[in-house]
Amino acid sequence: ANAKQQLDGIAAYQQGQDERHLRDLTIIQDLPGALAANALSVHYQPKVLLANQRCEAAEALIRWQHPSLGFIPPDEFIRLAEHAGLIQEVTDWMLRQVIRQAAEWHTQHPRLRLAVNLSPVDLIDEQLPARIAEELELASVSAEMLALEVTEGAVMQNPQRVIQVLQQLAALGIELAIDDFGTGHSSLAYLKQLPVHEVKIDRAFIKEIEHNTQDELIVQATAQLAKGLGFKVTAEGLENEAGLLKLTQLGCDTVQGYYYSRPLPASDFASWLQQFHSQHQVESRERP
Ligand code: C2E
Ligand code: MG
Ligand code: MG
Ligand code: MG
Repeated sequence: ANAKQQLDGIAAYQQGQDERHLRDLTIIQDLPGALAANALSVHYQPKVLLANQRCEAAEALIRWQHPSLGFIPPDEFIRLAEHAGLIQEVTDWMLRQVIRQAAEWHTQHPRLRLAVNLSPVDLIDEQLPARIAEELELASVSAEMLALEVTEGAVMQNPQRVIQVLQQLAALGIELAIDDFGTGHSSLAYLKQLPVHEVKIDRAFIKEIEHNTQDELIVQATAQLAKGLGFKVTAEGLENEAGLLKLTQLGCDTVQGYYYSRPLPASDFASWLQQFHSQHQVESRERP
């Protein structure tokens, strides 16, 4: 019976592997066509400045509702796109959508900055800065409306080449952020050598911040050192009000998370922004 169970287990595992393999292949096969047909979309998540409760930035996050597989998490298809050599198409598609959106929002929200995530592969692409500059020019959008997020690991893969690309991007006027900070192996001292403006502390340290003293110490030390070195500090993944008080005390400048809003489709984000700012104006008028 034992041997039979084992064989059944192996068969089930093998079937699971085959299904995963098939799913991966479907994703890789369908992605280029979906991009060409604009069948993916972009959601925007607000980043709120604690000092004045203003939202002057948002992160753009890619979304794919696949006709037969349903919602595919970006982590999953981005990783596959990287392996399949499709990431440049994804990044270019995102940049085009977000830059067009920035053009649309500019009149009403001239100070709004939209952040796009880059993959490690994008950072060794020496043509990327020129393509972004062209896209900005086509849409008559200033580089001040754009930010880019990169991970520590992406920089470490090939520091010399990546620094060149980052310097070109920064020279255009694009703000650069280190994403998921604290999960990789680089230090703030090392990041100081990069043309990076902002450090985003990973959600792993934020999600239990109100009752985990170790996380509190890590966030405090990171925020203090990062600010001392001239970086803006953002906390990612705040979900509740107790955490907000902590993050304010610990010296974070900006907070992003479900507490303020989940990532929203463009039109919902625009409504959120208006309501958030009109509500805050009411609150500050009511204050003595
Ligand atoms: P990320 O860049 O660190 O993005 C933040 C992720 O945390 C997003 O997940 C966001 O929805 C989620 N998040 C924000 N606030 C909270 C919170 O309070 N609680 C929880 N539980 N989660 C929160 P999402 O959209 O699933 O994206 C996951 C990752 O996929 C991103 O992590 C980024 O690495 C990658 N990604 C997303 N869009 C793109 C893209 O257009 N290009 C590239 N290269 N990567 C992307
Ligand atoms: Mg990000
Ligand atoms: Mg992140
Ligand atoms: Mg991430």
